[in-house]
Amino acid sequence: MSKDIALDEHLLIQKYFSDIGSAFLAERNVEITVGDDASVISSSRNTQQINSLDTSIEGVHFLSSMSSADIAYRSCVIALSDLAACGARPKWYSIAITLPQVEHSWLNSFSIGLQKFSDEYRIPLIGGDTTKGKLSITVQVMGEVDSNKAILRSTAKEDQLIFVSGVIGNAYLGLKELSDNLGTDSYSKAYLEPKAHIDLGLKLSDIASACIDISDGLLQDLNLICQSSNVGAEIYLEKIPTSISEKSLELINSGDDYELCFTVDEDKYDELMNISKTLNIPITLIGKTSFSKDLILYDADNQRVELNSGYSHF
Ligand code: ADP
Ligand code: MG
Repeated sequence: MSKDIALDEHLLIQKYFSDIGSAFLAERNVEITVGDDASVISSSRNTQQINSLDTSIEGVHFLSSMSSADIAYRSCVIALSDLAACGARPKWYSIAITLPQVEHSWLNSFSIGLQKFSDEYRIPLIGGDTTKGKLSITVQVMGEVDSNKAILRSTAKEDQLIFVSGVIGNAYLGLKELSDNLGTDSYSKAYLEPKAHIDLGLKLSDIASACIDISDGLLQDLNLICQSSNVGAEIYLEKIPTSISEKSLELINSGDDYELCFTVDEDKYDELMNISKTLNIPITLIGKTSFSKDLILYDADNQRVELNSGYSHF
């Protein structure tokens, strides 16, 4: 830990971070966890480790009005979502947290959010770092796949079906409720408590040719599959599953839903619908990959919808 947190560092870590998800250490092959110089994990043959890391910053990736339990939970789920997109089994996570000050009630609720995350995905917190500064949370997640089973972005083929899980835009509607103080909470849970579709990712690892989790927006994330796979896509606006009937570009491309978007060979359609039934997760066909390298969106009248070219974080 850095020297600049004005509290017994050892005690702080011990109190709030040492026991999160410890029930799952054994099943995840973690031998040494929080408290030593580093953690120790046993590895097995015939598997590959899948590693991902995400930083959440106050005012950018979460609202300052959110409870620290919600901040912790959401920061972890959105990091884990990358493992879902790869079709990986979660193994463990670590956290680097930067805090403006040490406030025990805040930390207590933060660790409750972590515990909820750990319990839901059976994943132990095995280490981290704690420093002082503007609030930010970096979560590293590690998972595992059977060798060569990871679903990549770069392996979609032409003439495959494109699907999305769940409903698109609910997190956007939820964020609006929360930030505009609308006084309603029909959708806020979708923003505060997204799901990492681990079980779906695991099932998809046998049938999907490419997959991405939708963090930045359906079209721009699908575009990343297209670019890295060197294919195009034709998408039908009317088919995109949304909760409200007005399918504005803003709504369908808002991000934050952490649904999965993936490509599948046509002959796997029935198998996919069975998976949807078994997991009780809606899976919707929204279009097809194409030979052209463009992403084309059609409206209800089969007219091309004008799209901005490219989006970025900055
Ligand atoms: P060092 O100075 O050797 O890096 P630290 O004081 O940073 O040690 O960390 C001591 C132990 O506590 C390590 O096992 C580290 O992984 C863990 N740790 C520190 N901060 C956190 C945190 N926020 N969450 C989980 N574990 C943490
Ligand atoms: Mg350290």
